[in-house]
Amino acid sequence: MDPNRLVIFDTTLRDGGHCLDTPPPTADRLAIARELALLGVDVIEAGYPAGPSGDREAVEAIAAGVSGPGIAALAAARPAEIEAAAQALEKASRPRIHIYLPTGGARREQGQQEARAALVRQTREAVAQAARWVDEVEFSPFDATRTDEGLLAELLAAAIDEGAKTVNISDTLGCCLPEEFGGLIARLRAEVGNIGQATLSVHCHNDLGLAVANSLAAVKAGARQVECTVNGIGERAGNAALEEIVMAIATRNNYYGIDTGVDITRLLPASRLVSRLTGTRVQENKAIVGDNAYRHRLQIPANRFQKKGSPIEGVKPLQ
Ligand code: MN
Repeated sequence: MDPNRLVIFDTTLRDGGHCLDTPPPTADRLAIARELALLGVDVIEAGYPAGPSGDREAVEAIAAGVSGPGIAALAAARPAEIEAAAQALEKASRPRIHIYLPTGGARREQGQQEARAALVRQTREAVAQAARWVDEVEFSPFDATRTDEGLLAELLAAAIDEGAKTVNISDTLGCCLPEEFGGLIARLRAEVGNIGQATLSVHCHNDLGLAVANSLAAVKAGARQVECTVNGIGERAGNAALEEIVMAIATRNNYYGIDTGVDITRLLPASRLVSRLTGTRVQENKAIVGDNAYRHRLQIPANRFQKKGSPIEGVKPLQ
């Protein structure tokens, strides 16, 4: 874990794929995954093998055919789903099982000690099971921003204790505000005793147009993985846009003091490919990758914000 490095977890093919009426065929998903590897993302979430959209074949193909980034598969915190993810990832050189804890009606009700204890137990069992299959286990309590904070802290601590290397806070319904979300991340860092043994991740949705702002507030508060999608595609109003996060971090590295491993010259080709193969149009005034973005030819501004040696110094304008 490098505190100066922001891990880019791309979920274009999983969360992004969920917004499509017709999921792309496996060959197209493989092409997108290869482009994401060229782009330099750290992790590709390839799909949800036990899910309803039949991702298993695509996850297997990407696990076998794409090297470089880690390959993640989603699974609910249930034995059969974890096993399905592990099997689909069998050929990946760096497999990651991403476990989410499904919503249970009782989980938000305070004072229900039994229900809370059951969720902690389910978390422990699921993470321990996944850790027997793979080195990299990520744990996400579903709808974290609306979950009781004490319970959330307890679940994260239990997951880390069982070997989760990443714990992820999801603003599943996209209802958080940046200051609030940054505050939550800062408090969790303070409250979860073993948080230093894991990478703290965030997953933001764009229902209020704040997915990128929320993600960046979390980064400022100490999160070191962001889950995002190319062009911000995803359920409803979408996920945090990868290109916007990466460019904010690159342009303002004097403020964040961290880097990503993304090759920013590949942002536009990745955007175009995802748009074409998923049939999702990019609005023309979309930041970074829209047709009108950088039209003023200032391009990536070589200005007072940039430090010498910044990753974007001297980079040619996006074409
Ligand atoms: Mn999501």
